[in-house]
Amino acid sequence: MAAEGNAVAPKAAPAAADGAATAPPPLRDYAIDAWSSRNGLPHNSLRDMAQTPDGYLWFATWEGVVRYNGVAFTVFDRGSEPGLRDNGVGALYVDPQGRLWLSDSRGNLAWLAGNGRWEFVERTPQWPQALIHDLAMDGRGRLWLLFEGHGLGCLHPDGRFDYLAAPPQVPLRASFPRMAIDAGDRIWIGTLDGLVMRDDAGRWHRFGADAGLPSGLVWPYVAPDGTLWVAAEGQVFRHHGNGFARVHALPGAGHFTSMLQDRHGALWLGTENRGVARIGVHGVEWLAPGPVLPRGRIASLLEDAEGSVWVGANGGLFRLRETLFSSWTRRDGLGGDYVRAVLEDRDGTLWVGGGGGLDRQVPGGGFRPVPLPGAGGGTASVLSLAQGADGDLWVGTFADGVYRLRDGVLLRRYGQADGVPSGHVRALAADRGGAVWVGTRRGVVRIDAAGVHPPPPVPDLPDGLVTALAVIGEDLWIGSVAGASVLRGGTRVERLDLDAAGGGARTVFGFQQVDGRTWIATDRGLFRHRDGGLARIGLEQGLPVDAVFQLVPDREGAAWITSNRGVLRVPMAALREHADGTARRPLAVQRYTEIDGLPSAQGNGSSAPAAILRRDGTLWVATAAGIASADPARLRRYLDRPPPPAVIESVQLDGQALDWRSRDSLPGGARVTVAYAGLSYLLPERIGYRTRLHGLDEDWIERGTQRAVEFIGLPPGEYTLEVAAAHPEGGWSAQPARWTFGVRPLWWQRTDVRAAALLAVLLGLFALVQRYRASNRRLARLVDERTDDLRHQASRLEAADREKQELLDRLSAHAELLERHAYQDALTGLPNRRAFEEVATRQLAQASAGGAPLALAILDIDHFKRINDERSHAVGDEVLRDFARVIRQACRPEDFLARTGGEEFVLLLPGVELPRAREVCERVRRAVERSGLERTAQGLAVTVSVGVAERAGAHGLDVLMQAADQALYRAKRLGRNRVQAAGEA
Ligand code: GH3
Ligand code: MG
Ligand code: MG
Repeated sequence: MAAEGNAVAPKAAPAAADGAATAPPPLRDYAIDAWSSRNGLPHNSLRDMAQTPDGYLWFATWEGVVRYNGVAFTVFDRGSEPGLRDNGVGALYVDPQGRLWLSDSRGNLAWLAGNGRWEFVERTPQWPQALIHDLAMDGRGRLWLLFEGHGLGCLHPDGRFDYLAAPPQVPLRASFPRMAIDAGDRIWIGTLDGLVMRDDAGRWHRFGADAGLPSGLVWPYVAPDGTLWVAAEGQVFRHHGNGFARVHALPGAGHFTSMLQDRHGALWLGTENRGVARIGVHGVEWLAPGPVLPRGRIASLLEDAEGSVWVGANGGLFRLRETLFSSWTRRDGLGGDYVRAVLEDRDGTLWVGGGGGLDRQVPGGGFRPVPLPGAGGGTASVLSLAQGADGDLWVGTFADGVYRLRDGVLLRRYGQADGVPSGHVRALAADRGGAVWVGTRRGVVRIDAAGVHPPPPVPDLPDGLVTALAVIGEDLWIGSVAGASVLRGGTRVERLDLDAAGGGARTVFGFQQVDGRTWIATDRGLFRHRDGGLARIGLEQGLPVDAVFQLVPDREGAAWITSNRGVLRVPMAALREHADGTARRPLAVQRYTEIDGLPSAQGNGSSAPAAILRRDGTLWVATAAGIASADPARLRRYLDRPPPPAVIESVQLDGQALDWRSRDSLPGGARVTVAYAGLSYLLPERIGYRTRLHGLDEDWIERGTQRAVEFIGLPPGEYTLEVAAAHPEGGWSAQPARWTFGVRPLWWQRTDVRAAALLAVLLGLFALVQRYRASNRRLARLVDERTDDLRHQASRLEAADREKQELLDRLSAHAELLERHAYQDALTGLPNRRAFEEVATRQLAQASAGGAPLALAILDIDHFKRINDERSHAVGDEVLRDFARVIRQACRPEDFLARTGGEEFVLLLPGVELPRAREVCERVRRAVERSGLERTAQGLAVTVSVGVAERAGAHGLDVLMQAADQALYRAKRLGRNRVQAAGEA
């Protein structure tokens, strides 16, 4: 039995950052997730947190310790299995070997063993019965325990326990629950009356004003890099040489209650009731109490293996997670959150337009409104943006026409009075000649230095609502709610036949030129225009949404596509393959939503540009709740996430929990259910799994996001189940979770049972043979005893037997003959009348029941009497025999022929209707005529007359015979040598 997972370093700083690309985003860009007793926590006060090397997170509460796998909390307390001795868990500590230690409010200490059980350390009489505030291991493997109101305990690696009461002048009775051990095995302890330290020689030291530290509450923290930090009210000191230097002062922060130095070197500070502060490359940033974070003590801070920061408060659990997108909203100075268009001008300035008007980005990242007075007062609502060849900024609005700005200053407005047919401008496109095309509710117009010009008088130019415009070469591409058209060289309009590519697209939202091809975003997917032809990519190809607004290629070969249901990312090459029809698998599209940091998943259609790639490679997307940006470095970090370590969580045997860590042999025929998890806390619902059961599966089996697998009736044998996890687009866990187990055979599958059964059978056989032999011997003896009289009797019996047998043979030969005679005509060998009647009755009944046709013919040799009379009775017999043969040959094997008397025969034709039966009879008649029977008849002609009838209704054989007979009678009367059908004239 073995269970293992990927190792992740607990509380350790991962590989150093490679400069700015890995710099953390500002705190405001982190997503904050919250958990409370409503989501499964047993208590809302989080006292401590830890992550074990297998990837699990652990939370200490007043109602037990909680294990978290990203999806569900598993609570261990006095009532659970395995259980604790007390529910009030004080501190958690992962030692250098990766073992999780836990202390409780009654002074119990336990560690988590490999079999999943809590091993409690047996207490000696001197062990205080008090809450263990904090614990930490020194370089020599000694575990130091800080008891509330008491002092220090030391648990040696050999299990010995020492209790060290503090000397009178050391204020350990007022200790604060923070202890730290530095590289020199010096133990630093926080108290309400300054910092104390116990050196490795056992001497106690106090640090106060003379060491540069304030009096009152002071406590220590040792960072993963070994730095010793000291927190005092509103201040942070760093230990150096033999003193302390104040490095941060946060006036008004109150008491610090927890501290963390993260992988970027930033310091996180939890406070008594002011929230959390981060001090790093973005300066001092605050996560203040508010709608998300409650007011109250931040008792613990933890950075997990993925770099998320967990905040344990006395009002719940919180996690700050870096997201792919940053968002910019009114909070950042935007005039409004409903953003519709975004543009970077040639100077690198970012312009944002939306319901709140026009904004420009200012140095530092914030935004400042640019006044655009609307015609009816107030600020114009912006729909579209473009930069002209001369550098002027053009702004299309909802109702106020087009504004033109130069160097950020309003130059003029073009409205209906100037010849713009409608004030509603959703699309703008600048051409190289310095003019700007304006798409309105009533078609397009062109504005140049001389003013507003109506479009050229070309037939079929769209004159309704224009939703997208693009100048590509000499052509103007025009999208509307009724498809797409191209104004070629200003002289003719080519309408694009979107319908020909299928899908039923109507509204066009955007055009994008990529590598000489034009991609068209519509309400029914993407279209690619190439050499006059269109190819469509929609739901059928794997696009997760119908309506797409704008496609933006990035520099990494991916296309970003905006929609109402998130931002999609897909390799440009995959889109090309699908457009070419050479793709072998559905599109693999990543879809990002609010959980990825988008202020809203809803992008903006029919206003432009709805998304852009800035010159610095960042993507900017207009959404219904602000503008979002994603930078390629962050995306790389997003995609390069290490695969989640996989763990096996639980095993059920026929629905009952199984102590799988210590049970490696399962009964046969059982249902085994194995639950597993990938321990990533970023987007656990997107983790994919695969499993392989060695001993059964040839290869890995992908399980999607399914977190359990079930096996029923495994054949006896040895198995190892492997489970691996992966992030979307990421690799599989390098080291899968494993569980090795055996399945015992069912009783009848066991070799011993089988051997026993075989032995029993053999013994039985042996006994039988023995008995048989014994009785044989007894018989032989009897025979021997009575040899003479037996032999005598036997010979008599033999003789009688022979006689009897001869008699029986004769009798049975006779009976057979009789039997045959009963159904056979002796002269011709044909079935006789009796046979015919039985067969005909049966077939007629079957045909009646099945509604099948059946015909019956009576054949009578013409003037047969003459043969008897003029030749001889023997010749007559010969003729009858030959006649029978001729008829037999002329009909089908399934037709039933019988001699029913004298020179009269019947032919039963199952499945044959009257016209066809008549043909058969005619064939028979001709066969007789041509048969040369007259030779047999010694010169007399032999012909036959036939009467044929068909089964009708449910009538019996009599009726059918009568009908055939009547037909025969007519055939005779009409001159013989003919076939007559019943009912025939
Ligand atoms: P028709 O064309 O009207 O049928 O004239 P027919 O002479 O064939 O008719 P009829 O029924 O008057 O004569 C049948 C004769 O067949 C009478 C009988 O002597 C003869 N017959 C019946 N059974 C046998 C038999 O087993 N052997 C021989 N050789 N003749 C038989
Ligand atoms: Mg006859
Ligand atoms: Mg006759």
